[in-house]
Amino acid sequence: MAAATSWSIADSSALYGLERWGEPYFSMNARGHVIVQPRGDRGGSLDLVDLVRELQGRDLTLPLLIRFDDILEDRLERLHGAFERAIAQYGYDGRYQGVFPVKCNQQRHVVEQLVESGHRWHFGLEAGSKAELLIALSLLDDPDALLICNGYKDRRYIETAILARRLGRQPVVVIEQADEVERIIAASGALGGAPFIGIRAKLSARSTGRWGSSVGERAKFGLSIPDVLTTVERLREVGLLDDLRLLHFHIGSQINDIAVLKDALQEAGQIYAELTRLGAPMGFLDVGGGLGIDYDGSRTATAASTNYSLQNYANDVVATIRECCEPHGIRPPTLVSESGRALASHFSVLVFDVLGAGGHTESLPPPAEGEALILRNLRDTHAVISAIAVGGSPEGEGGDGRSVVERLQEAWNDALKFKEDALNAFRLGYLSLPERATAERLTWVSCQAIARQLEGLATGTVIPQELQALPAALAGTYYANLSVFRSAPDTWAIDQLFPVLPIHRLDERPTRLGSFADLTCDSDGKIARFIDRGQVKPLLELHSLRPGEPYWIGLFLGGAYQEVMGNLHNLFGSTNAVHIRLAAGGGYRVDHVVRGNTNAEVLEAMEHDPDLLLERLRLASEQAIGRGDLAISDARRLMAHLRASLEQTTYLEA
Ligand SMILES: *Cc1c(COP(=O)(O)O)cnc(C)c1O
Repeated sequence: MAAATSWSIADSSALYGLERWGEPYFSMNARGHVIVQPRGDRGGSLDLVDLVRELQGRDLTLPLLIRFDDILEDRLERLHGAFERAIAQYGYDGRYQGVFPVKCNQQRHVVEQLVESGHRWHFGLEAGSKAELLIALSLLDDPDALLICNGYKDRRYIETAILARRLGRQPVVVIEQADEVERIIAASGALGGAPFIGIRAKLSARSTGRWGSSVGERAKFGLSIPDVLTTVERLREVGLLDDLRLLHFHIGSQINDIAVLKDALQEAGQIYAELTRLGAPMGFLDVGGGLGIDYDGSRTATAASTNYSLQNYANDVVATIRECCEPHGIRPPTLVSESGRALASHFSVLVFDVLGAGGHTESLPPPAEGEALILRNLRDTHAVISAIAVGGSPEGEGGDGRSVVERLQEAWNDALKFKEDALNAFRLGYLSLPERATAERLTWVSCQAIARQLEGLATGTVIPQELQALPAALAGTYYANLSVFRSAPDTWAIDQLFPVLPIHRLDERPTRLGSFADLTCDSDGKIARFIDRGQVKPLLELHSLRPGEPYWIGLFLGGAYQEVMGNLHNLFGSTNAVHIRLAAGGGYRVDHVVRGNTNAEVLEAMEHDPDLLLERLRLASEQAIGRGDLAISDARRLMAHLRASLEQTTYLEA
């Protein structure tokens, strides 16, 4: 029996898929803790649980966003490494030069880190709004890095880009709408100089899945082929064709199926060749974003996964564009990509604590003196279930010719029958409320006992559906100290899946099934969809809470889009965040601490004045003191609580 029910970290690793999606950054150690290898396979690791404990020691309370800047750098290196290998393999006579789409994560330390780490590759930035342009212009001081200007553009946006060129930057204004060309012409005339110009093409190749509508004839962005031609002719007329340098396309985020990308690349490659034939100097082909992340490690063309690797992606881009250029004798362009998700997803880990759990974890109620027959029947049934010796041979005969599974099923039928009897007896007045409670408890205890017995069965044992459903019937709600609207909004908005798992106790069998409910008073505030190798499961294997011990959960791969899309629902603000770097001599350093929003800050965001709110309450408590309803000491305590809350984060204190 011991052999069948023992549990190892390898079992946890397989259960949570860690070795599939976590590679090479996340795994487990012998203590059953998640460990982080921020430099991938180049050495150095941190025990995530020890790290959280030490950060808590610095007064950084949960929920806590831990950003591993080494991972960000490693992702950059992998992206460039993949393109360098592909360029060498296919003898591509050109370069790769990427940019980071700022909209993916605009946090100052994140953008700064990417610019700094990306310097050796002249890695650039992509902006989609005036505010993002300001970030990009200011932070990107490498004259060889590209600054791709996307999004809708007014005259001021365009003039800013033109002047930035004189500042020594390399802005490329990408024409997304047919009417933008006139604004570029006007601004260039007024300033006596043009920006580098790009054209975003609407491709007919369609991506599948969530972002499929980002392309095709009715897409929001990009020029149709007739518009591309009109634009080229307009630029030629006014003498700006020499500034047309870049062709851009973007077929949507999280491309699941590489076949879609190949179609798009072929189409874009031909358009690029035609543009050079029309006399534009060109030089850059920008394949946009969309490089996907394998959130569930299944390597499939499903929503939470991709059927290709980073290297496959780079190979396809390089090989396809080469094939398009070679027959035409066209010089292969510098390849640009705007990969956001693929760069920024891995580096941040959200750790939150569980405040409590609902659901059924009953212990056997002690027998009462002269207990009712119905209750004694239920008690006997529980004893029968517990006595069944599972293990050994899967079809283990019980000595009376019936298999273990058959005997469990029979005992469960009995338990259900006795529970029904108890309910009837209660209705007829033969059973008291405490007795009915005992009956229900005994039924749940039997249910738990069966679930435990099922775990002991050898894998492959055929289990009747009714029994299979019991563990789910016991599932609990785990109350999470977080707001999904703030920290993982895509789980709510677009059913995005992220890997979620406890970061400790992984050497212990998780004996419960559960889902998470967050702090908001919103029934959508939950995490109830979990990765399951290409599928989705509604319940996650979790551990029973131990009194006085924390239970810490990690949400992984959420570094892209979550922070900025998060909102203040119920006035839960940003969480504490830290930037961690591996230190040269082992261990780590805390590079930046970004304190989460205080209650005062979220109130101010809604135009409330915290001092004014406090003052009104002070007056109200003076009146209550005057009426004799409130003691002065209680008024002082009330005001102290309110003042302290204003200074603290919006989350619950452990
Ligand atoms: C959003 C966006 C990106 C980034 O897409 P990812 O899927 O995060 O790589 C790149 N380019 C454009 C034009 C975008 O709108």
